Amino acid sequence: MTRRILFLVSIIASLCVSSYIVWGFYAHREINRLAVFTMPSELAGFYKRNQIYVSTHAVDPDKRRYAASLEGPRHYIDMERFGDGTVDALPLEFWEFHDKFTGLYCITSNDSLEVSYAEEKIKVGSKAVELKKNDYKRWYSKNIFRSYRYELDTLQTQLPYTIRNEFDPCIRFTVFDTMMQHGILPYHMLDMQRYLTSAFKKGDVKRILQLSAEMGHYIGDATVPLHTTTNYNGQETGQRGIHAFWESRIPELFAEAEFDMLVGKASYIVDKPAFFRDLIRTSHEHVDSVLLIEADLRRKLPEAEQECYEERLGRIVRVPCSAFTRAYYDRLDGMVEDRFRVAIKSVGSSWYTAWVDAGRPAMEGDLMTVIEINDTTYSRREGLKGRGH
Ligand SMILES: [Zn+2]
Repeated sequence: MTRRILFLVSIIASLCVSSYIVWGFYAHREINRLAVFTMPSELAGFYKRNQIYVSTHAVDPDKRRYAASLEGPRHYIDMERFGDGTVDALPLEFWEFHDKFTGLYCITSNDSLEVSYAEEKIKVGSKAVELKKNDYKRWYSKNIFRSYRYELDTLQTQLPYTIRNEFDPCIRFTVFDTMMQHGILPYHMLDMQRYLTSAFKKGDVKRILQLSAEMGHYIGDATVPLHTTTNYNGQETGQRGIHAFWESRIPELFAEAEFDMLVGKASYIVDKPAFFRDLIRTSHEHVDSVLLIEADLRRKLPEAEQECYEERLGRIVRVPCSAFTRAYYDRLDGMVEDRFRVAIKSVGSSWYTAWVDAGRPAMEGDLMTVIEINDTTYSRREGLKGRGH
C-alpha cells in the first residue's frame, strides 16, 4: 500500500514539471500584446496588424535557451556578483563589462597566468609581455568578444573557449567567464535596441517584428525582481519555486481581472543605457520583499494550504493554492501589477524609440505586410541548465 502511494506520488511529482514553470509565457505574451496599445498613431496600424505575431513570438527567446548555449545569460543578471551589487558597479559599455568580468588565462608550458591590461603592455601573470595593446585588443575582439555579439539564432559557442596561441609565451588561452554564469541582460537590451533601430532603417518588416517581439521578452524579464539575483528561484533560502509563483502564478490568476492595463502612450527614451539600467535597479530593489514576504506567509500558513494539485491540459500539476497566491499577491501590495505595467510601457517605448532613431520611416509599402506567424522551434541541445526563466 505504502509503495503504491509512493509510486503515485512519484508519478504526480514527475507531472509537475511543466505547464507553469514557464514573467511565464502568459505574461510575456500579454506584455507584448498590450504594448501595441501604447503606440503613437504613426505606428499603431503597423503593430495592430501584427499584434498576434508580436504576442505569439514574445516567448521565442525562452524557447531558444535550450538550443543556444549563450542564450541563457541574456535573460538575467546576478547583481550581487558585480562590485557592490548596484547598477553603478556595472560599466556602461559591454566591452568594459566583458573585460572586467572575464578572466583570460595564458597557458604556458608549465603555468597558467592571468592576462590583464597594463599601462602600455599586456601583463601576463607577473610578467610583462611585449604585446602591443592594440594587437591584443583586436585579437581579443575577434576571438572572444565577438562570440557574444552574435545575432539571434547563430550562436552555438560553448565555453570556456580554448584558443590557439598567437602570442608568445602562451601555448593557448582559456577564458573563464563570469558573464555566462551571472548574466548580461542590461547589455543585451542595449544591443537589441540597436538591432531594432537598424531593422527600421532597412525597412525589413519581418525583422522589425521579430526583434520587437524578442525585445519585449528581454524587457519583460528585466522588470522581474528575481531576474536580477543569484537567488533567482529561492534556492538559497529554501524557497524553491518562488520564481514561477511570482511571475507566472500571480499573473495567471489576477492579471486579467485585476490589473489596470492602461499605461498611456509610449515615450521616447533619450538615454538608453540609463533606461535599461534603471529597469534592473528598480527590479533589484524588490528582491528582498519578494523573498521575505513569501517566507513569512509560508511560516504562518499550514503546509496543506500552500500547495494544491490542478489539472492542466490533461495533466496534473502542483501549483501554489489560489488562496495562498491571493495572500501573497495582497501582501506584495501591487508590486506585480506595477512591474507588469512598467514592462508594457517600456516595451512600447523601446519600439517607438527605435522607429524615431531610424528617422521615423513611413510605415507604408512593404511595411504594410502582415507577417505570418510561424511556430519557431529550436533543436534541443545542451543549454544553460538550471535557470528555468
Ligand atoms: Zn526569459
